[in-house]
Amino acid sequence: MKLKLVIFDLDGTVVENSYDWPAIRQQLGVQGGSILAYLDSLPEPERSEKYALLRRFEREQTESSVLKQGVREFLEWLAAAGVKTALVTNNSRENTDHLLQKFRLGFDLVLTRESGLHKPAGTPFLRVMEHFGAGAGETAVVGDTNYDLLAAKEAGVRLVFILKSPMTPVGLEGAELVETFDDIKAKLAEKIP
Ligand SMILES: [Mg+2]
Repeated sequence: MKLKLVIFDLDGTVVENSYDWPAIRQQLGVQGGSILAYLDSLPEPERSEKYALLRRFEREQTESSVLKQGVREFLEWLAAAGVKTALVTNNSRENTDHLLQKFRLGFDLVLTRESGLHKPAGTPFLRVMEHFGAGAGETAVVGDTNYDLLAAKEAGVRLVFILKSPMTPVGLEGAELVETFDDIKAKLAEKIP
């Protein structure tokens, strides 16, 4: 089966930053599970207050983000082969647009948390796959955390590349751990239409 679609994560994948998620979770009072699901479960005004705090952390990281090496060339390589690209992030539309403009990057489709579909659920990936008419076997996912892997698994996508970093979590069974976008390119070469 040839590749039709590659779904990218944003933070830690397309751009490099240094979110201290354990510290952020602690400050927001998240016990377990996903931050967004926790915030959405809160009553007002706590919900808005904590979302504002999360946005502050995200803005700080957005300002200091740098583009990951090789991502631009990788996107150009996919585009030349006619493979569609989608960016699926739990980050906000504001931060995402800011980063895409700052680095002059383009994806065929961008889904942010305002869609209401959040990783680690598979629903945002399924939405994107449906949009492009791409089956699970024609789709690859590139990310940096177990949320990307869990979402891919729930969407039935088995080709999952996790870019390694000092923050790479353990327990990523089923994913291909890679160092660079060139590594992914080499692994995808035979699947390119
Ligand atoms: Mg990430």
